[in-house]
Amino acid sequence: MAKIHNLGFPRIGAQRELKKALESYWKNDISQSKLESTAKELRSNHWKLQSQLDWLPVGDFSFYDQVLDTSFLVGNIPERARKDNEQSLENYFRVARGRAHQSDNNEIFAGEMTKWFDTNYHYIVPEFCNTTEFSLNADRLIAQIQEAKSLNHNIKPVVLGPLSYLKLGKSSDGTKVLTLLDKLIPVYQQLLTKLADEQIEWLQLDEPILVTDLDSHWQQAFEKTYHQLQTTPVKLLVASYFGELQNNLQLLCNLPVSGIHVDAVRGKNEIAKTIDWLPSHKVLSLGVIDGRNIWKSDLNKLIEWLSPIATKLEERLWLAPSCSLLHVPVDLELENQLNPEIKNWLAFAVQKLDELKVLEQAINQGKESVANKLSLNEKAIESRKNSPLVNDTSVKSRIADINEQLGQRQSTYLERAKIQKQILNLPEFPTTTIGSFPQTPDIRKTRRDFKQGTISFEHYQKKIQSEIHYCVQQQESLDLDVFVHGEAERNDMVEYFGEQLQGFAISSFGWVQSYGSRCVKPPILFGDVSRQNAMTVEWTQYAQSLTDKPMKGMLTGPVTILNWSFVRDDQPLDVTCKQISLAIRDEVLDLETSGTQIIQIDEAALREGLPLRKSQWQEYLDWAVESFRITANGVQDKTQIHTHMCYSEFNDIINAIADMDADVITIETSRSNMELLDVFDEFEYPNEIGPGVYDIHSPNRPAESSILRLMRQAQQRIPKERLWVNPDCGLKTRKWDEVIPALETMVSAAKSLRQAS
Ligand code: GLN
Ligand code: ZN
Repeated sequence: MAKIHNLGFPRIGAQRELKKALESYWKNDISQSKLESTAKELRSNHWKLQSQLDWLPVGDFSFYDQVLDTSFLVGNIPERARKDNEQSLENYFRVARGRAHQSDNNEIFAGEMTKWFDTNYHYIVPEFCNTTEFSLNADRLIAQIQEAKSLNHNIKPVVLGPLSYLKLGKSSDGTKVLTLLDKLIPVYQQLLTKLADEQIEWLQLDEPILVTDLDSHWQQAFEKTYHQLQTTPVKLLVASYFGELQNNLQLLCNLPVSGIHVDAVRGKNEIAKTIDWLPSHKVLSLGVIDGRNIWKSDLNKLIEWLSPIATKLEERLWLAPSCSLLHVPVDLELENQLNPEIKNWLAFAVQKLDELKVLEQAINQGKESVANKLSLNEKAIESRKNSPLVNDTSVKSRIADINEQLGQRQSTYLERAKIQKQILNLPEFPTTTIGSFPQTPDIRKTRRDFKQGTISFEHYQKKIQSEIHYCVQQQESLDLDVFVHGEAERNDMVEYFGEQLQGFAISSFGWVQSYGSRCVKPPILFGDVSRQNAMTVEWTQYAQSLTDKPMKGMLTGPVTILNWSFVRDDQPLDVTCKQISLAIRDEVLDLETSGTQIIQIDEAALREGLPLRKSQWQEYLDWAVESFRITANGVQDKTQIHTHMCYSEFNDIINAIADMDADVITIETSRSNMELLDVFDEFEYPNEIGPGVYDIHSPNRPAESSILRLMRQAQQRIPKERLWVNPDCGLKTRKWDEVIPALETMVSAAKSLRQAS
């Protein structure tokens, strides 16, 4: 009899209840006990939604991030946050975001945040140094275990494994993180003893680093660690996900644990080998339902594939989603605005667990026992394959006509730069911003009202225009050099385009957690992509009409639209990306025709699409860069193309970034203290660059001296003629009274730089 389980459930709530509670708590609007009770209610609801499973996850809930939870679980709290009550929730939020709440006067600098593997979820990076010590504090986890037990659930706690925990961290003093392993293992041993006392049968230890390239030190560390953890009665299920195990497959199969979980969606080709290699007493959990995307599974096909496996493994076969369901929205049932045909192709977290249940029944009791469900599933799969909504022959033929010319600028950067300098006539160290200005409650209301039809288009247009007007005025008084219109009409940089392009559907509640209380609602890219009408030209033209300064046209690039959507899984990603690139290219050319001199095409998510294995990087970068070039490079020499990227760890892809051949790139750098600039010691970046000079995540006014210091560091590597001065990223999450002083300081710094040069 196969069993079913889940690796983790979305914690944010179907209606983003946790987000709302957290933000109210941070604003001092609700008490800690109210926050705790909301969390408890969410957990209890989520367990109820999973009650048909044989094992429910506990420990997957988090107030901010599961990696940060692990830091607190193993007592690795940064020095600066060690006050009397270091395990308090207040202190937890301090490490997460600097302040526990608005009136917190024990502010510290927040932990670094980075992307969780190749997802758009961000975790707080564990901090290590040679004096790092660990000590167990499992109170929160144990309390949740007891909570679930009191509701009579059959549970399986979930904790991040020790090796992945170490490897995801960063050491501040050059200490090799693996040297800390001997101190960490005893803490996990104590945890196991505690769990045994709670009568826990299985513990899921997540070790997703097993799908990345591991050298022999790490591989040996796995063997050693799990040998030392096998001493308690608690059975361990070591879970890997997000891809193939490749040369770590044998290692995982042979760890002295009771079971392993593998990703049977992305790693399907390895399953036969896994079954061969797995010692015959171990449980094999197959992640057969895609935990990263929102399409219905082809259940009939899965059953056919699984049947012989089930016969062979019997009790030892468990079925699950490929990874935690953290990366998909909660419940499709709430979607009453989606085209029913499209809705019928989808499965969110709740529906994925239903699929699992159907699989279990089909396997354990025969297909007849779920015949009806299987036939509905088959119909949905067929409908998606053949729907005219998905297939557009004119898009397909445009893709077939792509040639190299399409991604080629007319002249080299040096020639273009000359022409652009003449036309734009900018000072040295030109100042600009990344695009968005504060999204006030009023703006959000305007957009909501328009969407709900409570205000007319004319009314909406007037209000957005008055926002743009205000924004231009502010930039005028700040004396910035290159303006933006402020993006007031955009709820989100990807959704805005998804709403207007063919081939995309927008959900109402399809939220997934990005970091902390921040959620994103990825558009659903279900079919061939094309653009019907200009999407941004009118707003940009209006903004330009208000000023003599150059106004940037703002677009989101094809790779970012792709990476931040739930993307179709029925054709290769590069084909889908090229379709988007042609649609956005049309917009670029329309902006140019309408007189826009500078066009910024954001590729904030270019890096996060990188495959986890280095050996696959080049292939991705080739089509990603080509897609950007198709979008951007059809313009004339006089038109200046900017791009923007958010993540600093792209020193290793600098060649690809240079290949994009944007005239100017602005990048996030200040959080990493311009670490990024090191790359320019060896690599001569050929075009212009604006290293972000202050961290927009902070509400504080940056010090002019620190901006100057950063810019001087930049000047040592990049000729000053090619440097721009700008913030790290867009300003939409800030308030006007934070933005104005910050930009004043930035402009003043740029002016001193000009004087000094
Ligand atoms: N132009 C976008 C903005 O300013 C860029 C956001 C981003 O990089 N994530 O909001
Ligand atoms: Zn950014």
